[in-house]
Amino acid sequence: MIQAPKGTFDVLPEDAARRELLEEHARKILGAAGYRRIETPTFEATELFERGVGEATDIVRKEMYTFDDGGGRSLTLRPEGTAPICRAYIEHGMHKLPQPVKFWYLGSYYRAEAPQRGRYRQFWQVGAETIGSATPETDAELIVLLADLLEALGVNRTRLALSSLGTPETRAEYRSELVTYLRAHESMLSEEIRTRIDLNPLRAFDATDPGTREVMLGAPKLLDRLAAADAEHLAAVRALLDDAGVEYELDPTLVRGLDYYTRTVFEFSSDALGAQSGVGGGGRYDRLIEQLDGPPTPASGWAAGIERILLAAGEQPLAAELVDLFVALAKPEGARVAFELSREARRAGLHAQQELGSRSLKGQLRHADRIGARYVAIVDDGTSAASGLVSLRNMESGEQRDTAPDNVIPTILRGTGL
Ligand code: AMP
Repeated sequence: MIQAPKGTFDVLPEDAARRELLEEHARKILGAAGYRRIETPTFEATELFERGVGEATDIVRKEMYTFDDGGGRSLTLRPEGTAPICRAYIEHGMHKLPQPVKFWYLGSYYRAEAPQRGRYRQFWQVGAETIGSATPETDAELIVLLADLLEALGVNRTRLALSSLGTPETRAEYRSELVTYLRAHESMLSEEIRTRIDLNPLRAFDATDPGTREVMLGAPKLLDRLAAADAEHLAAVRALLDDAGVEYELDPTLVRGLDYYTRTVFEFSSDALGAQSGVGGGGRYDRLIEQLDGPPTPASGWAAGIERILLAAGEQPLAAELVDLFVALAKPEGARVAFELSREARRAGLHAQQELGSRSLKGQLRHADRIGARYVAIVDDGTSAASGLVSLRNMESGEQRDTAPDNVIPTILRGTGL
């Protein structure tokens, strides 16, 4: 039996309603702040991600689905949305538009990761990007919008971590300072951290063994090494979040899996999730567009995982889909009247379905009950329908009465009398 590939899932109709609701909220909340929807292809030139996300990142080193397109070009299923949007911004000369340009997006992304709850190989993200503004207000606006979206969707027990990565230069200096510090305390570090000092010294901040933890208490922090302008930028973002009443924790160890960030970085997580607790995050990426051969353009943005949002929101009851009218057939000869009646009902704005099987009348009424139909119109044979042989039944009260076919829709729309 052929099954869906490992790490993928089907969105069944019963799951689709919550996703549609999420999309509606995103459109409303982001649209009201001037963000406009953008769609980019699901695959791009591999080089875009190598240069945009960074060759040293986990994503590029081991998580990309890369293939040859048959003509010797290397393509990759998109693992994230920011680099493609920057590519589109440059390709369409959007620096000539009034700045900043604000985008939002929703689509599927692909990473060859080990699947677990909340981590898939094809997953969906909703995201927002503001390109062409360097101000702290931009970062704060983006953070507040994500906070609003998560709140509107009922995402439970969220925490916001905030930090600044400064500039790549500050980061490089800091990194060598940290390596030197770790070398000086090597004997107290865990084996795992010790062997990776040069490869990933920042990981020592996440270690759980007592020896490494003690060493890290005294370790230098990037936040204390920020250049004055970067520190001011962070202070301004913090003040705006404070004014907006958005709570956050300063997390000097916040590192994100993509190379392109500068200054502000942030991440929302939820205690309602297990090991994969990150709901969404992002930050400022002032050098990315230039790195992709565009004009120097500051930018900032975030992405949030749709499956994680839905998991963290829990099983919120959604109103069951309403079926206003089910058109049943007493005799097969009534099929044309039934077809027309259900079509007219839909044109009048009702949710209407007709019998599409060949069930007995009793079976049809049982089906109408199971799909939650409010009314059932039972059509007799087509010949005498005009003379009033449609029986309209109110499924809630059980009342039933004969009426002209023309009368069915007005009766349901009025919602009274039967
Ligand atoms: P990132 O682009 O890595 O910053 O991811 C942003 C958000 O996307 C994360 O906070 C998750 O909610 C979601 N996400 C990332 N990778 C996966 C995955 N493999 N499966 C499901 N969601 C993911």
